[in-house]
Amino acid sequence: MSPTRQDCIARDVADPLAPHRNAFALPDGVIYLDGNSLGPLPRATPARLREVVEREWGDGLIRSWNTAGWIDAPRRVGAKIARLIGARPNEVICADSTSINLFKALAAALTLQAVRPQVSTNERRVILSERGNFPTDLYVAQGLADLLGRRHELKLVEFDDVAEAIDERVAVLLLTHVNYRTGAMHDMAALTQRAHGAGAFAIWDLAHSAGAVPVDLNAAGADFAVGCGYKYLNGGPGAPAFAFVAERHLAALAKARFAQPLAGWIGHRAPFDFDADYAPARGIDRFAVGTPSILALAALDCGVDTVLAAGTDALRAKSVALTELFIALAEERCAELGLALVTPRDAQRRGSQVSFAHENAWPVMQASIARGVIGDFRAPDILRFGFAPLYVRFVDVWDAVEALRDVLATRAWDRPEFKQRRAVT
Ligand SMILES: *Cc1c(COP(=O)(O)O)cnc(C)c1O
Repeated sequence: MSPTRQDCIARDVADPLAPHRNAFALPDGVIYLDGNSLGPLPRATPARLREVVEREWGDGLIRSWNTAGWIDAPRRVGAKIARLIGARPNEVICADSTSINLFKALAAALTLQAVRPQVSTNERRVILSERGNFPTDLYVAQGLADLLGRRHELKLVEFDDVAEAIDERVAVLLLTHVNYRTGAMHDMAALTQRAHGAGAFAIWDLAHSAGAVPVDLNAAGADFAVGCGYKYLNGGPGAPAFAFVAERHLAALAKARFAQPLAGWIGHRAPFDFDADYAPARGIDRFAVGTPSILALAALDCGVDTVLAAGTDALRAKSVALTELFIALAEERCAELGLALVTPRDAQRRGSQVSFAHENAWPVMQASIARGVIGDFRAPDILRFGFAPLYVRFVDVWDAVEALRDVLATRAWDRPEFKQRRAVT
């Protein structure tokens, strides 16, 4: 027997994470299942931004780079994120976007391969990734391969075929830990180990992992990683992203001046020497490029705090419970209504989202959003629901399934206004 709405309310009462919902300014009448695309506004953020704008910027003016610690913000917030992803504080920096950090990390990994003593350097030309990877990751790899004179080949395989495609021709394994469409999660430790066994480096994109599932980059032996600030980290639209470089590589990279090719002045060893020649900073700072966005970092800082306050183990336990419940209720209550589960049924193999395919996925999601149940659509036919355990309640899951059932059963989606495509889906 699946749970009733009353049962769900009882689970919320017993939920140790329930008080954390209060940390967010969620609008009334909305069930927000899209925190995997844009995290909601933390209550602490507006006051903190006001303080940074009025006191630090308004009164402090340029002095605040020193007196308000602005110049250290990328490292300070990076060190907080490090605690969520199994990294040391000196291995993570906040900067730029995920796409740009990926460019930097991939370039650095390819340089490390090139300078490494090995028998068959010339043969090691493959950047291995997954066909269903998030497009920006693939575009960045394609663009970088072109820039490097087309010596590299981007090889794409299906999710389940990654392990066996790792061989001595692979220079870099470039994967997103949790797939954005399906929610399927790779075994980071096993694939990283396999990559290392073949002499390849592993770069992990944590866009759908950081703040949602426990990640232990150093236990997995990851070489590089990047991740997103505006999804589960609740940093606000376009929040700075982060980059991770394993400590052992920071030392090796110090010998290659342009290993991180976006050689900007903020990544210089001594920016305020204004030297005409580039000399990279010794540590993770060389992954900075230009002047950090202080307002955006202040908002990200507040967002990361909401996740740190809960802890990733507690978040994972509730996330698994929420996604289990959603799958069970949707399959029971929406049976025969055309939904096909796309996300792995085994909770160990998925992140914090559930995706269903439906032939009218776009208008179905628009009709659902019109009722206040906000998920999103991913082409060509995916209804995607993110379950951020900091603020999503068990009763929300029940109500969301009920709204979905009603939209499907009554064909409420079958109206012209729900069929118009918007720029952002
Ligand atoms: C969201 C996401 C990105 C976003 O990259 P931006 O540069 O911030 O636009 C990158 N990679 C993956 C896997 C994502 O899910």
